[in-house]
Amino acid sequence: MYRLKVNTSRKYTVTVADDFSAFTEEVLPLIKGEKIAIITDDKVAALYLGALDVFLTDKTVYKLVIKNGEKSKNAKNYISLINALAERGFSREDAVIALGGGVVGDLAGFVASTYMRGITLIALPTTLLSMIDSSVGGKTAIDLKYGKNLCGTFYQPSAVYINTQFLKTLPEREIKNGLGETVKYALLSDTVGIKDLEDPTAALTVYKCLKIKRDVVVKDEKENGLRALLNLGHTVGHSVEKLSGFTLPHGVAVAKGLYAAIGVSAILYGLSAETTEKMRKVAALSGVKRGVKYSAEEIAENIFADKKRRGDHIYFVGIKSVGCPSIEKIPIGKLKELFIKAEKELWI
Ligand code: NAD
Repeated sequence: MYRLKVNTSRKYTVTVADDFSAFTEEVLPLIKGEKIAIITDDKVAALYLGALDVFLTDKTVYKLVIKNGEKSKNAKNYISLINALAERGFSREDAVIALGGGVVGDLAGFVASTYMRGITLIALPTTLLSMIDSSVGGKTAIDLKYGKNLCGTFYQPSAVYINTQFLKTLPEREIKNGLGETVKYALLSDTVGIKDLEDPTAALTVYKCLKIKRDVVVKDEKENGLRALLNLGHTVGHSVEKLSGFTLPHGVAVAKGLYAAIGVSAILYGLSAETTEKMRKVAALSGVKRGVKYSAEEIAENIFADKKRRGDHIYFVGIKSVGCPSIEKIPIGKLKELFIKAEKELWI
């Protein structure tokens, strides 16, 4: 069992375990009120909702179940959920438990952060992506018809409890989704090694990934600068995900984006073939092949329409070697040139 202290505006502990043995002792005392709302989706509910009952016998538990999938991260569900809390007389002492993947985590987090201006939030992530990424760092969100994650808050949970046993039922596609992010961590820091990537669902691997995220988040909780490092691979990743009409799984898109970030970095920093190849080998551990069916120009145009664009520049996360990422403010014209060059020489 591993524990990680996150010293953000609210200080909390992330427990990474392969069972629930520490749940009662470490998490339950944080819930001062009598009422708990477990927010989950229908798939996770069918698999795991009953498993929590045994720990919550002295609380009044309400189970609020949404349909699984990104479409549920919407304003309608948000309003229904906060109304459900109000209807049941939830006070600020009571708590929300987010049991599920990133969709449930983002939505339940937004509910907990806004209901009565913030009630206790406990995260129980059940997908690889939510374990190594979304459950830590305090970003909550819902999607609007104008775009993903457009409405949200920064709100830290009171505890995150990760039980890697949940991953036993996670479909292969969802494991691959998380793997893109695991490989990102292995490029961001040499603390996640090839051996760790051999078993991405192991508690130690999850812990090592989260440690990297924690170290960045505590220095830049509200994403004013440094936290952008965690977007390595995401500029191109989001672009190809969007170009595919969201048919390309997020993790695969991120893995493609990592190759692109390496390709662009090779030109930008004049990296040696040896350094570039070493990083590509790490990226290849995602199991995703290099290359996309969109041209560099298409990808660049799509990026320029992105919400993260600031004026005539893009903040692009480059990588000089494994463990050495760097945030670059690049004029959009230059970035497009770099993409086209990378496409010709190295990338696709
Ligand atoms: P998800 O929550 O949609 O879960 C994927 C699927 O797996 C769902 O069908 C779910 O029902 C199922 N599932 C979950 N746990 C399971 C289990 N243990 N066994 C079997 N099936 C299970 O997707 P996700 O990839 O976890 O999260 C994606 C979301 O996370 C996106 O909305 C994204 O914007 C968000 N996100 C947020 C942050 C953040 O920092 N807040 C970071 C990255 C991603």
